[in-house]
Amino acid sequence: MKRPFDLIVLGAGSGGLAAAKKASSYGASVAIVEGDLVGGTCVIRGCVPKKLLVCGSSLLESISYAPSYGFDFDNLSIKSEVLLSNVRKEVHRLNELHENFLKKANVELVKGWGEFKNSNSVVIKNRKNGEILNELEGEKILIAVGGKPKIPSIPGASLGWTSDDMFLLKSFPPKITIVGAGYIACEFACILQGLGVEVTQLVRGERILRGFDVELSLALTDAMKSNGINLRFGENVSLIKGTPGSLIIRTSKDKELNSNGLLFATGREPYINGLNLEQSGVEIIDNKIPVDFESKTNMSNIFAIGDVTNKINLTPVAIDEGRSFADRNYGESNRKVNYELVPYAVFSQPEIASVGMTEEKAEQLIGKNNFIVYRSSFRPLSKSIPKKGSKCILKLIVDKDS
Ligand code: NDP
Repeated sequence: MKRPFDLIVLGAGSGGLAAAKKASSYGASVAIVEGDLVGGTCVIRGCVPKKLLVCGSSLLESISYAPSYGFDFDNLSIKSEVLLSNVRKEVHRLNELHENFLKKANVELVKGWGEFKNSNSVVIKNRKNGEILNELEGEKILIAVGGKPKIPSIPGASLGWTSDDMFLLKSFPPKITIVGAGYIACEFACILQGLGVEVTQLVRGERILRGFDVELSLALTDAMKSNGINLRFGENVSLIKGTPGSLIIRTSKDKELNSNGLLFATGREPYINGLNLEQSGVEIIDNKIPVDFESKTNMSNIFAIGDVTNKINLTPVAIDEGRSFADRNYGESNRKVNYELVPYAVFSQPEIASVGMTEEKAEQLIGKNNFIVYRSSFRPLSKSIPKKGSKCILKLIVDKDS
């Protein structure tokens, strides 16, 4: 049993790291528990490696414009095994960097998987053999374990990949089917198409990026189609058979597709299995941990932030939740997270970014006649000589009374 800590943080992802370092900076004794690499989804298997792939993928698009600027290239080809291996190296560098940041911040990193023994103590185990590695006691415990990909239960689902698997592939396959129409599906469809992979995307609804501004979602649909992505609406996967690398995919329209791989990008869920939450007294509703605006659970000494909660599941939100948790509990500020104007960005090609209400939401809330939409659509200067590539759309929705 280790000495009691002021704070135990479960999960060394973006939110947990931010909370641990900030709490320690106020003088709290802090332990952070992590069974995997330090950095969490964003750094290890999400935003960062994804953005590196976007950089690689969009480079090829830029090179395709180069002849209009007078460059001449012969035998242009991409070795995705080199790109993936370099991305993994960078991820490992960042993992080490984050471990060093923890040391400098005087936060104790406890390796292993934490599970609750009761509301004040956590047992740390090796998940492979169940061996107990450690036991910690904490006055407060912060759950920041994040989420994991959700896979539909259809026959042959185990033949599919999740986004986690994509970063571990040796190379990208020649042909892939992507299921879903959210952030991950659209981002990977664009990355892979840009890297020369033949992409079919199955969208069960009628449009991509549900909840986004319809005009932006339709503009991205057009751009993705004209880049060569085979978007199929109102169609889902119903069965997968074959062997890894050579799949036969049956769809809800009774069609068969041959593919070298299938990516499920069908949402994420909190990573709460194995936490033994029932021992802590923390309640779970709809498979999420409900928290108030101060990240408090129903237990007075247990808090939760990030993708495990019922709030907005985005990295910058988790970081802000972590820092403001530490400010309130160990510093002198009473600051709360403002969930009102959270910006969104989709790293598709072209990218989409937005903040505030969509046109549809404004219509619902204040009525069609009470706001003005200012629009501008133009070809970016860099694409004016090649005369190809998607246009840029800027859209401003303004309340007439403001
Ligand atoms: P999303 O919730 O964004 O999208 C899930 C998609 O899968 C939707 O299109 C949904 O369709 C579809 N879907 C769900 N269940 C099924 C099913 N059984 N069969 C077929 N389709 C299904 O999830 P993602 O996995 O794309 O991303 C998860 C989260 O990760 C995001 O919500 C976001 O918080 C975060 N993220 C953020 C990024 C960023 O900020 N750039 C990048 C990547 C991830 P429907 O619309 O019909 O429900």
